[in-house]
Amino acid sequence: MKLCELTIKQAHLGLKNQEFSAKELTKAFLDEISLKDKKISSFLTQTKDLALSQAEKVDELISRGKELPILAGIPMALKDNILVKDVKCTAGSEILENYIAIYDATVIKKLKEKGAVILGKTNMDEFAMGSSTENSAFFPTKNPHDLTRVPGGSSGGSAAAVAANLCCYALGSETGGSVRQPASFCGVVGLKTTYGAVSRYGLIAMASSLDQIGPITKTVEDAKIVFDAISGKDPLDSTSIEKQVPTFNLQPSALRIGVPKEYFIEGIDPEIEKLVKEAIKKIEDLGVKIFEVSLPHTKYALSTYYMVMPSEVSANLARFDGIKYGYSITKSKEPRAKNLLDVYLKSREEGFGNEVRRRIMLGTYALSAGYYEAYYLRAQKVRTLIKEDFDKAFEKVDFLLTPVSPVLPFKIGERIEDPLSMYLADILTVSVNLAGLPALAIPCGKVGKLPVGLQIIGKPFYEDSLFQLGQIFEEINE
Ligand code: GLN
Repeated sequence: MKLCELTIKQAHLGLKNQEFSAKELTKAFLDEISLKDKKISSFLTQTKDLALSQAEKVDELISRGKELPILAGIPMALKDNILVKDVKCTAGSEILENYIAIYDATVIKKLKEKGAVILGKTNMDEFAMGSSTENSAFFPTKNPHDLTRVPGGSSGGSAAAVAANLCCYALGSETGGSVRQPASFCGVVGLKTTYGAVSRYGLIAMASSLDQIGPITKTVEDAKIVFDAISGKDPLDSTSIEKQVPTFNLQPSALRIGVPKEYFIEGIDPEIEKLVKEAIKKIEDLGVKIFEVSLPHTKYALSTYYMVMPSEVSANLARFDGIKYGYSITKSKEPRAKNLLDVYLKSREEGFGNEVRRRIMLGTYALSAGYYEAYYLRAQKVRTLIKEDFDKAFEKVDFLLTPVSPVLPFKIGERIEDPLSMYLADILTVSVNLAGLPALAIPCGKVGKLPVGLQIIGKPFYEDSLFQLGQIFEEINE
């Protein structure tokens, strides 16, 4: 096995037993990136010097016989909307093309303390808005399983990098499916964390009531390792909490699992439906009791999400005004702005791409006087109904099983001109974000060479049992 194919757990054991050094491991990934990333385009920025110096520190630890934290010396990558001090952070946008972060996000601070090796920042849809990574202001990322297809999005760079062995694991962010959907498209594991489980400090905000950082890994065991390292209360994010739920060992024969009928809708690819139903059957064969359940408000989830999310986007992105951050028309050679308002308008018009502008306009409209009650407030009420659907289902069952995406990885360019067809790709993921729940995407098979993902949705803060069920499934699905 090549070094860059190892899981976190395997790489950790190799380092601990001194089969290779952290520097050798890091170099193996750097070489793989220079060999393969020209084709895949998963990285926006590489941090080679940082990676090598971090690896050297870990080697020193090892040579002094010190205890090795599990993530020490393990090379990773992260989505370019998470801040690493002194490293460029673009959020996939021209407006932040030259922005250098002045502090570490809390997740990065935690990972650095544990000896992580940072290889670089990965490509993404601009400000995390998209499902294909084609909305990146810089270039599209390709799916490693088929270079003519998208890797999913918006954390497409992170998922493609893990799938192509260009990093051992990666961080992505979720607002409406951006970890799970690209993980599913690239055949890797992705976790949407419970809202509040992981600090958002240092994550460039898209829609703050939905955003969460989550791991993208090769195995469920690795997802647990990363989750354990980055989660917990952070005084710098008042929405983060340290929630203790009882841990217990799952006994399949005592488990009750729901299959929501609204998730097997018309329009879902029949091959995906077949693979996911086979996966559910395999789980049932373990003695798990499977029930059909109903989440009746699912049909409103997409429209609710595409009302709440742009409203928050319009507020959050107001800070990019050509004064404080990034691209500014005031920096162009000839003076092109007549007054302050003109600076705001022109900087934003030139700095933001089409999808971002579309969402700012939609959100500003939904929040404006006279429309607020009819759109934003109503969407918030439906959001509560969607959450209550899950609460009711979880009175009867411990988990829910569904597909991650209704479609296979699509061709690059196929949907980009039609925003609605792009939004439809999110139909099976957004409810989980609206309800603040955790959910795991795990590969469950392939159609030709294209991966398909199974989604396991859990109760809030039950990540640990999600990992247990995920690992059981991984074993039976091998
Ligand atoms: N595809 C969804 C969107 O475009 C989800 C994005 C996300 O989770 N960041 O809004």
